[in-house]
Amino acid sequence: MRAIVTRSAGSMELTDVPEPRELASGEVLVRPEAVGVCGSDYHFLTGELVTPEAFGPQYPRIQGHEVAGTIEALGPDCPAGLDVGVRVAVWPLSSCGTCYACRIGRRNACPNFRLVGVHVDGALQERFPVPASQVFPVGDLEPQVAAFCEPTSIAVQAADRGRIAAGEPVAVLGAGPIGQAVALVAGERGAKVLMTDLVAGRLALGRAAGAETLDLSEHEDVVPLVREWAGGEGPPVVIDCTGEPAAIRSAVEMISPAGRVVVVGISHKELSLNVSWFTEKEPDILGSTVCGAAQFAEAVRVVQRKQAVVRRLLTHERPLEQAPDAIAHAMSHPAEVMKLIIRTG
Ligand SMILES: [Zn+2]
Ligand SMILES: [Zn+2]
Repeated sequence: MRAIVTRSAGSMELTDVPEPRELASGEVLVRPEAVGVCGSDYHFLTGELVTPEAFGPQYPRIQGHEVAGTIEALGPDCPAGLDVGVRVAVWPLSSCGTCYACRIGRRNACPNFRLVGVHVDGALQERFPVPASQVFPVGDLEPQVAAFCEPTSIAVQAADRGRIAAGEPVAVLGAGPIGQAVALVAGERGAKVLMTDLVAGRLALGRAAGAETLDLSEHEDVVPLVREWAGGEGPPVVIDCTGEPAAIRSAVEMISPAGRVVVVGISHKELSLNVSWFTEKEPDILGSTVCGAAQFAEAVRVVQRKQAVVRRLLTHERPLEQAPDAIAHAMSHPAEVMKLIIRTG
């Protein structure tokens, strides 16, 4: 069967791979229909994202962790409700169950976790096995839209970490796919959302989804502007979806005393902060990673309710065989490509 294999850093190709092994107990065989491509895929492909040595060789790997597909076969002992032909979204996480994070019920932060498409082979192929506990039926959602459940689940986790509540002003820094998903989830929770970005087209998508926006290319210092937007004392919640030190610094600076900053954006950069911001404002500075099962289930419900908004974010769609070129194009045109979907069906 066909697959897109990442052979080494910077090298991805269409090739033939063997059919999947026989299903183990509690596994289903998923036939991917639509696979979203995101920033972390680019980082994996360039080699910027490095998997732990103890996990074995990083390459070759079949990527693809934002997955919608149908169940093609069931292994022994699968739970009721999962039948052949059912369309599902894949929660990509499996965790060790024994580390500190797992023991206190925060399996999403497990240092030994395995992610589909990163540590084990993912969805850029015609069929692949997944534990039944990691597939969530999505009803009649279109596969392209259902593939957005995974990025939305990242946003649900960030919203949970930030304890976003109805009526609160929430600033979302960065209007890429994760920023858009965070704005969507914050709006669903009744928050008033302001998105910031340098790219006008991304902000326009945010406005179409009901957020207010602030174009950073038009302003020198956004901290006082965001504070003013939130009524003078600063927003109680700021979610960084950029991973940029300057943005995270501004988040901690602009936040209301006793507010929460949640960092979702990924980078390996270093950040400097004024110590007095901690001791004078007593903020919660929180990280956020992938999500748990309950958050993934909520993400499916959000995407089901907000299909029209999600559909607008899906700017590019290509068949499996064009994935390497399409991904290269998306990496070099970040302002143009909001969400690339690879159609595997
Ligand atoms: Zn992703
Ligand atoms: Zn663990």
